[in-house]
Amino acid sequence: MGICKFVSVILFLSLFCLPISICSLSSAELAEISTNFLNYAQKPELVKWMVDVRRRIHENPELGFEEFETSKLIREELDKMGIAYKYPIAVTGVIGCVGSGEPPFVALRADMDALPMQEMVEWDHKSKIPGKMHACGHDAHVAMLLGAAKILQDHRHKLKGTITLFFQPAEEGGGGSKRMIESGALQNIDAIFALHVTARTRAGSVSSRPGPILAGCGIFEAVISGKGGHAAIPQHTIDPILAASNIILSLQHLVSREADPLDSQVVTVAKFHGGGASNVIPDSVTIGGTFRALSKKSLVKLMHRIEEVIVAQAVVHRCNATVDFFADDSLYPVTYNNEVLHQHFINVAGDMLGTEKVEDMKTIMGSEDFSFFSELIPGYFFFLGMKNESLKKFETAHSPYFTINEDVLPYGAALHASLATRYLLEFEALSHLSKRNVRDEL
Ligand SMILES: [Zn+2]
Ligand SMILES: [Zn+2]
Repeated sequence: MGICKFVSVILFLSLFCLPISICSLSSAELAEISTNFLNYAQKPELVKWMVDVRRRIHENPELGFEEFETSKLIREELDKMGIAYKYPIAVTGVIGCVGSGEPPFVALRADMDALPMQEMVEWDHKSKIPGKMHACGHDAHVAMLLGAAKILQDHRHKLKGTITLFFQPAEEGGGGSKRMIESGALQNIDAIFALHVTARTRAGSVSSRPGPILAGCGIFEAVISGKGGHAAIPQHTIDPILAASNIILSLQHLVSREADPLDSQVVTVAKFHGGGASNVIPDSVTIGGTFRALSKKSLVKLMHRIEEVIVAQAVVHRCNATVDFFADDSLYPVTYNNEVLHQHFINVAGDMLGTEKVEDMKTIMGSEDFSFFSELIPGYFFFLGMKNESLKKFETAHSPYFTINEDVLPYGAALHASLATRYLLEFEALSHLSKRNVRDEL
């Protein structure tokens, strides 16, 4: 056996035989923690309380960095449970603390913000704020993390370290996670977990994958300036509408002709504003959009080429163009799942739900600001299924008809609590291996 093969076998064994060798508890005892937590979370009074919390938040949606009432509700519930917390973190954020107060530290994160859109679902707990809605499930995320807080607090004497509960503001484009990091939230934290509800996976199942799970992302806006005039006398004008149209076509060639077909990327122009009358050529046009990639290298390359193409194509049409990327540091990293934590997730979720309920998923080109956390420390992000055809069709996130399958709240709470509790129990091996596995690319 060559040395490389030998090293790979050792790494394989160390990755996939974790629970057997490194923890004082047996695999069966570890599995029991997960099933017990699920039974605990499914107690009618706990389910009723989580549903009530979720509905109260749903009725009063708040946008990024404005989650004052949501934050207050969270703190009131933590107070009732006797859980200490830090506040404010990044304006409205809250960090609760359960366990010994000593290392190791593991974090669980829920986002709190709503979206600027009108809810179209007619039900008793419809949003009371016109033009604002919890259409991404962050109300349910908060309820499930509070549910986990209750489970953990009721089992606090068994925790072998400290679990920090991150209630994060402004996930929907505000970079709330980045602000929390700047406030020192990740100090001493060894690993972090988060979940997101999804209508793509069945209720009672979860889905995730090791490595890149969500894309890195950037946004751009460009102003293409020409010379306006009468639409019937184009020779006296410099037409920015035609220039912008050609720019948009050229931008499509970045992915189709320049990117490796095996390296997924997206460039979408989603905004085109120009002109106001059918017989007037306007002075300028504004276009804007998003770009996505699965590595920082590809993302940065796309950003540079988007600027080059816009500026050069504008010149072809005798126009000028300026491109704004809203600061270089506005790029969202790829959300990367630590491979050792993936194995931990498979063990925990498999024990709780059954291995057949733990689904492998493809990478999605959506983005998450959880990526700022998992860029710095071992992190893990997974999806909690809501689909149940016998109930109704659950719309995908950001639809005005989005609804939550409240039956899945106990699963989210128990998974959170179990992932963190077992991480602390298996800390020695997990932290050692997961830190070795932190990618160096981003
Ligand atoms: Zn969203
Ligand atoms: Zn979301």
